[in-house]
Amino acid sequence: MTVLGAGNMGHGIAEVVAIAGYDVVMRDVESDLVSEGYESIEWSLEKLAEKDRLDESVEEVLSRIDTAVELESAVADADLVIEAAPERMDLKKEIFGELDEHAPDDAILASNTSSLSITEIASATSRPESVVGMHFFNPPVKMALVEVIYGTETSDETAEAAYEFVESLGKTPIYVRKDVSGFVVNTVLGPYIAEPAWMVSGGEATVREADAAMVHRRGYPMGPFELSDLTGIDVGYHVREEAGRPIPPVMAEKVESDELGRKTGAGYYDYESGEGANYGASDDSGEFDTLRVEARMANEAARLVGDGVATPEAVDTGVRLGLGFPEGICRRADDIGLDAILEKLETLHGETDEERFPPDDHLVELVESGRTGREAGEGFYEYDSDGDGPGDYRLLNYDLSEEGLLEVELDRPERMNALSTDLLGEIDDLLSSVDAEAVRCVTFEGAGDRAFSAGADIGGFADRSPTDAMDVTPAFETVEEFPRPTLAKIEGYCLGGGLELALACDLRVATEDSEFGSPEINLGLIPGGGGTQKLLRMLGETRAKELVFRGNRIGAERAEEWGLINRAVPAEEFDEVVREFVDDLLHGPPLALEVAKKVMNEGADASLDAALAMESQGFGLLFSTDDLREGTAAFREKRDPEFTGE
Ligand code: NAD
Repeated sequence: MTVLGAGNMGHGIAEVVAIAGYDVVMRDVESDLVSEGYESIEWSLEKLAEKDRLDESVEEVLSRIDTAVELESAVADADLVIEAAPERMDLKKEIFGELDEHAPDDAILASNTSSLSITEIASATSRPESVVGMHFFNPPVKMALVEVIYGTETSDETAEAAYEFVESLGKTPIYVRKDVSGFVVNTVLGPYIAEPAWMVSGGEATVREADAAMVHRRGYPMGPFELSDLTGIDVGYHVREEAGRPIPPVMAEKVESDELGRKTGAGYYDYESGEGANYGASDDSGEFDTLRVEARMANEAARLVGDGVATPEAVDTGVRLGLGFPEGICRRADDIGLDAILEKLETLHGETDEERFPPDDHLVELVESGRTGREAGEGFYEYDSDGDGPGDYRLLNYDLSEEGLLEVELDRPERMNALSTDLLGEIDDLLSSVDAEAVRCVTFEGAGDRAFSAGADIGGFADRSPTDAMDVTPAFETVEEFPRPTLAKIEGYCLGGGLELALACDLRVATEDSEFGSPEINLGLIPGGGGTQKLLRMLGETRAKELVFRGNRIGAERAEEWGLINRAVPAEEFDEVVREFVDDLLHGPPLALEVAKKVMNEGADASLDAALAMESQGFGLLFSTDDLREGTAAFREKRDPEFTGE
């Protein structure tokens, strides 16, 4: 495949593609530019290697990257071309015209444009059905999201191939089914930046209040003004100007006075003589109207969904992975209540008559049909309101195989699978509602390649009262008491709440580069999901106190030596070792495993006499089972037993 452009995005995309194992040609218009891009890739690969995040050597990855200045030969054999040239329509059209001439007939022609029309770019070719948007985020090496955008004529075949290609890179694609300005992610981001700017312009809030409220009260990773300063106030200004949208006065003033943000030393905050974006939780007076901002984002989301541009899942994945939002805007809107959101928009429209407030038809339709959100059992999403069977989860994925292997994946890679209250709630719900009879073994793992789970999500701590916090989530207990054997598959960080989840499992297998620890003490806390007691019983007082008191991390080898995990294995052997464990558990006698688990879990906290009594009771119970007959018969007949759990 070929990447056109060796700038910021082009070299990053070429790097990602080569890491995933593809041969790639990176082309720019001058050899200096190509060399610069190549050097940036080298630098970035070295960094990844230092952090042990490459499976191969830097040289091996580099050996798959060729560079070129001449277009014709660079694309002659390509089955996919990704264009990452400057954001100008005339230039993009010129490039796609050339591609039409020189790229193979069956090649897919993709543009990484952030804001231009795919349909118009495609019109420069005689094969618009083969043209698609492939919008990577900056920097491509780090950002998991890619928007796959349909132009009016893009064929499903082209879009699906692009989607699958993105998946093969280990990234997460979302479909943007219509070529709307801003696609999905920037459409939702628009009001996050602009509405607070209107409020500050109108004297209804201050910059610091807005940033503090959105970050500390609502959990966004960065305040809207801080974010504008980072990306450049002029960038948002020009996008709005080009789209013909009104510009908040405070934004225009900053651009006029050339205070564009970090790059000019000052923007909404002063980065040279001042302290930069130094707002804190105490700047949130509680007065800032966060609902106004979220209602507008939800309204944009409703428009995208109603117009068939994206599904609620795609919108939510987009803003979580593309913007680092703590949760999807559709989920959040469902939690707030779509009726409350609609009312907010109607009130604001009534008061101001501004064009940005009229509620979208789809939002009105949802509310009028009673689909007002989570409480009603349905909103953007359907919820499992009858409590019957596992629901539809947003922060975890699961799969139950016919053999009875329940695989659970914590799916918040953008937050290193941190355990939020919602995620723990979903784990609890899944294990409480799944038909345990159909399950013979459970595995837990973290999405992405960096962490099993790096801890509890401390984002929401500031908002919690001590009594809420003392109400420790039942998820750890549910995992521990689940009647089938559980195994934690650990690759990367396993810290804090993540470690407690792993400890609630029966067995733990980890890659050698994994790290373990209970860092709660560094926050002025202690482990709150059973960690102190579990560690004490498992490791003994000496080692448990070292982990809890010092709050530092230990590597997998030491963890194995200490008895914290069952095995520490090299990454390349991990899948094999896990499979061996899982095979034994899947094919073992379900009843005996259940009794063994119960007797060992409960016995650990009982006196020896009581524990031995539990054991004999369990032993007796198993004597009348079919599984025992099958086990002994198979032993005599020298064959593998087939246990049924009867
Ligand atoms: P950039 O200016 O860093 O790089 C663009 C490169 O393309 C330059 O090196 C330029 O010499 C080269 N170029 C010009 N004409 C070319 C041609 N005909 N063939 C090959 N190369 C050519 O720009 P960038 O930030 O990498 O942005 C590239 C594209 O990616 C734009 O469409 C932009 O909107 C989009 N994008 C940018 C970001 C971002 O944050 N920078 C994020 C997502 C998407």
